[in-house]
Amino acid sequence: WRRSMEKYSLVKVIGEGSFGRAVLVRCKSSQEKYVVKEIQLPKNQSKLENSRREAILLSRMKHPNIVAFREACEADELLWIVMEYCSGGDLLQRIKQQKSNQFSVDNILKWFAEMCAGAKHIHDQRVLHRDLKSKNIFLTDNGTVKLGDFGSACILNSSKAYAHAYVGTPYYVAPEIWDNKPYNNKSDVWSLGCVLYELCTLRHPFQASSWKSLILKVCRGAYPPLPSHLPYELQYLVKQMFKTNPKDRPSLHTILTSHRVSKLLRTHL
Ligand code: ADP
Ligand code: MG
Repeated sequence: WRRSMEKYSLVKVIGEGSFGRAVLVRCKSSQEKYVVKEIQLPKNQSKLENSRREAILLSRMKHPNIVAFREACEADELLWIVMEYCSGGDLLQRIKQQKSNQFSVDNILKWFAEMCAGAKHIHDQRVLHRDLKSKNIFLTDNGTVKLGDFGSACILNSSKAYAHAYVGTPYYVAPEIWDNKPYNNKSDVWSLGCVLYELCTLRHPFQASSWKSLILKVCRGAYPPLPSHLPYELQYLVKQMFKTNPKDRPSLHTILTSHRVSKLLRTHL
């Protein structure tokens, strides 16, 4: 804990990854809690830019459904990103807590509308998130959903969008990525489709015992049907978001304004 971070006291470590760690802190003057993501900065110049990009892109986002950026600072080969603390934890944990108790349609749609609003804001800034999954979506104490973890985000149409070496959990990756095509805004829509499906069934839409069969299922867009008690419009929405050709997939703007979806949201929220 260095001098630059002296205004915060450490409460506990809440996450540890390859990048470094995420810690819960308290601001000494205001007593407010924040999360600090502490990232080990690489010596290599281009990798250094990658690490800084997360802080830069997050700092540009200001939206009720995106984790709020507070400040960032650098010292001794460490980068600290200070952000809003979402005390409800991540959505994956929340889904696991449900065991086999389904979420209500109202709850699913509320969270889905919130994550789409956050993601639309990201796309409106010409940024792609590229790692949307239930583990990177956080809940506040009042149950609002916020998108976080901009560690894989990039600016649309930058050369970086092509150089996407995939690391991490493969369940949310769109078919075009397996086909070595560039990441685009519709690839984020696919990933949100996976989260919507998870909220509806508490399972991943595409699951298999090997990478090869997983990729095959994703590229065919073959997923088990949603439970039939769910409204038809929700089944239709999932089907649209899992179109294997990204051109056929709706944009977030279309999802949030289409007649069918807005009607669904109106009747349930
Ligand atoms: P990475 O996935 O790159 O390791 P994340 O930014 O996703 O880093 O953070 C790692 C973990 O720390 C998250 O899965 C979550 O459990 C916790 N975490 C991160 N940011 C927050 C936050 N703003 N509020 C609450 N928990 C957070
Ligand atoms: Mg993460």
